[in-house]
Amino acid sequence: MKFDRFSEIFQRRQRLWVAALGLALALGVAGAGASAYAQTSAASITTQVHLADHTPAPCAAQDCLGQVAPNKSVVHDLATVTSADPRMTPTGSVAFAFYTGTAECNLVRPATLITVPLNGSGGTATAESASFGPLDAGDYSFRAIYQPDAAAKALGFRTTPGNCEQLLIIKVEASTLIHFQDGLPVPCVALGCTGQVAPAGSVVHDVAIISSGNGGPGRTPTGTVTFAFFVGHLHCGGRPASVEVAVAAGTNGIAYAESSNTAPLAPGAYSYKAIYTPDAAAIALGLGPASANCEQLEVLDNQGPVPTR
Ligand SMILES: [Zn+2]
Repeated sequence: MKFDRFSEIFQRRQRLWVAALGLALALGVAGAGASAYAQTSAASITTQVHLADHTPAPCAAQDCLGQVAPNKSVVHDLATVTSADPRMTPTGSVAFAFYTGTAECNLVRPATLITVPLNGSGGTATAESASFGPLDAGDYSFRAIYQPDAAAKALGFRTTPGNCEQLLIIKVEASTLIHFQDGLPVPCVALGCTGQVAPAGSVVHDVAIISSGNGGPGRTPTGTVTFAFFVGHLHCGGRPASVEVAVAAGTNGIAYAESSNTAPLAPGAYSYKAIYTPDAAAIALGLGPASANCEQLEVLDNQGPVPTR
């Protein structure tokens, strides 16, 4: 999977940075006392993508080299710059590069570059980027770079880039199909099933299919689906005749939920609206709510033989 491959790349990159940091530390130790010019203060930079309320976006995997967030999220990046020596707090700023359309920070020019002053004490300082969003489904990435000011440079701090942070914005997809009591689908009136048509006296229910969309099969939606059933029109407007909440369950990134059966329907116009609400487990996987399109159902006045269902 694409995301896994990125994880590998970034793990490799992280190892390189760790190696580079180790070398810098070793040089600093070796140089200490030898010459004032050789004295360096090593800073490390770690980052975390936050949602609008400052909670961290869920991790894409256990190692948290990538993060995920629901469709239309507004996010920002938190950078923490830590000095190897707690007596020297990094000062200066963090430049945040925000990339859209890539999880690899690999564009020649980032979509946006902003610089934010650092604040801190006791060897640790933080900065937060501006907010970005609402973001559509897809790949994004941040890279934060610590830029020491003159005072920090005098202490030996150097420009330090953080790892590329991957962010996947996930769009959950909800679709629906009205079924007869026996589980067979009600015939569609057109390609794409923009409406369905059933004979008078039909007993029907609605089936919602909730897919994790670009979140992949590892993220099966759990939670509930709310079905609103409207009588007398095809546009899901106004007050529903009934509202019902059903549990969504499934595997491999796809979950289902069903409303209960209606009473036998008189000829006329009906419509269903299904809305998926993720539970805490789904939210922890980066899944957000989703609404299906309004489903139109026409129940025909029977002419001729009464159909068997
Ligand atoms: Zn924050």
